[in-house]
Amino acid sequence: MVALSNSADASPGPDIDVEGWLAGAERRPSPNQDARPPGTVIDLLVIHNISLPPGEFGGDWIEALFLNRLDPNAHPYFTPIAAVRVSAHLLIRRDGRLIQYVPCECRAWHAGLSSFQGRERCNDYSIGIELEGTDETPFTEMQYAALVACTRHLQRHYPAITAERIVGHADIAPGRKTDPGPAFDWARYRRDIG
Ligand SMILES: [Zn+2]
Repeated sequence: MVALSNSADASPGPDIDVEGWLAGAERRPSPNQDARPPGTVIDLLVIHNISLPPGEFGGDWIEALFLNRLDPNAHPYFTPIAAVRVSAHLLIRRDGRLIQYVPCECRAWHAGLSSFQGRERCNDYSIGIELEGTDETPFTEMQYAALVACTRHLQRHYPAITAERIVGHADIAPGRKTDPGPAFDWARYRRDIG
């Protein structure tokens, strides 16, 4: 299959520019990013979930965390995490809205201590997508639709992200992370991305 890497792609939906910004995403650049190691091939997609406070949806707290603006006093859960420097490339809200914090060509800080097939530091070579949610709450139809569309575009732009190189955070940080959790319908997602 031909890898389309620029705007010559005439298919509908979000395209991806040279820095790795998706045309279909709102841009909110996070300071929590840096360069990938030189020569890195982006060849892993990591699916996460996040909600702040846990189990509450729709607030601005996730964005505040990724932009280093989380008020440690706004909620007891925030106090120990407000100073943590994290990000993800993309967030899909409950209504399917797609927000991008880090361009895909840069390294987002989403995976932490991690390993895929014996290769550590997954942030170096992966793209991280956060779904607003919890391990136990079914994700919305709009989230699956947005995730599938987004995944297809990413795979076309980064063809080394093959189906078997799309994993959950729990898969690369077992024992430490559980997301996206049992509520995430992997069979449906894998079927829908084709
Ligand atoms: Zn995660």
